[in-house]
Amino acid sequence: MRISDQPIAAKLAALGVELSPGVAMTEKTSLGIGGTTDLLVLRKFQTIPEIMRLLAADGIPHRFLGGGSNVLIDDGELSWVALHLPTSKPGMSVEGNTATVDAAADLGGMVTFCAKNDLGGMEGLIGVPGSVGGALRMNAGAYGTQIGPFVKEVQLYRAATGQIEFLRGDDIRFDYRHTSFAPDDLMLRVKLELPSIPFKEILAGIKICNEKRRSSQPLNQKSAGCIFKNPPGRSTGRMIDELHLKGHHVGDATVSDRHANFFVNAGSASCADMLALIDDVREKVHAAHGIELETEVIIWKN
Ligand SMILES: Cc1cc2nc3c(=O)[nH]c(=O)nc-3n(C[C@H](O)[C@H](O)[C@H](O)COP(=O)(O)OP(=O)(O)OC[C@H]3O[C@@H](n4cnc5c(N)ncnc54)[C@H](O)[C@@H]3O)c2cc1C
Repeated sequence: MRISDQPIAAKLAALGVELSPGVAMTEKTSLGIGGTTDLLVLRKFQTIPEIMRLLAADGIPHRFLGGGSNVLIDDGELSWVALHLPTSKPGMSVEGNTATVDAAADLGGMVTFCAKNDLGGMEGLIGVPGSVGGALRMNAGAYGTQIGPFVKEVQLYRAATGQIEFLRGDDIRFDYRHTSFAPDDLMLRVKLELPSIPFKEILAGIKICNEKRRSSQPLNQKSAGCIFKNPPGRSTGRMIDELHLKGHHVGDATVSDRHANFFVNAGSASCADMLALIDDVREKVHAAHGIELETEVIIWKN
């Protein structure tokens, strides 16, 4: 969607929005898949409510793009604009057992920053790509750790009120790759309450998690991590593997031969290829196990 040539562009610029016209989402996503749209970087927190009102008044659909590591975006000219928070480095600070972190900050960077301040518990999240905001939205987790239980408070733009507000961690539901945030809520900053653990101990945990990830995941290929969620008590990767679907592909969209729940873009896969592969594998698992798999990757169709 192109709005750079419309009157709204000047109004957005006055509100601190940096507008990049016609950005290829192939460059903004870990899958390397996606069409083209205008990218709006929101440089001033305090103007976000006004920006959202303007977009609504002009009927301009939008999506929030974090690190792009868990989204599958449609091909071609997209029917919405992408909103993005500016990169913040380091965008984090520590006081006692509380870490305050910008949503735009890198998740792995946050784990190591906290570790250097002797704050741990999040070792399992090392190696999960993307931003802190994306991790909050998804309740990212790995190796028995999820971000949700550490959340003390989130500062966010709340779609329900059109204001920037604070939510207490206790008032947010964090489930398996699902949270109670409204679809249009935009996380801006988070306070995490973390246990004190000596740096050396945290580092040892980080090394173990890094090694597990390296030995089981196709980290040198373009993916969005696990494509499907695990149904209760079942491993989706194992079910796909047992159906001998590793290497199965539609165009360049391919079931990884390293981890069967990772679907990789082995060249120039389109969104249509990836969706066809997802449907095909879902049908095969359903036929064999009677289980309807739910995608973990967020799919943004036009
Ligand atoms: C190699 C690899 C390994 C992975 N391993 C894991 C793993 O072990 N565990 C795991 O949980 N995930 C894993 N993932 C998936 C992904 O990294 C996580 O889901 C991550 O938390 C997504 O963050 P992101 O910033 O990239 O979000 P994006 O992909 O940009 O967006 C994901 C969702 O979050 C929303 N969002 C992003 N930022 C904000 C914000 N500030 N406010 C509101 N909503 C926002 C988006 O609108 C979208 O709905 C893996 C991915 C890859 C590529």
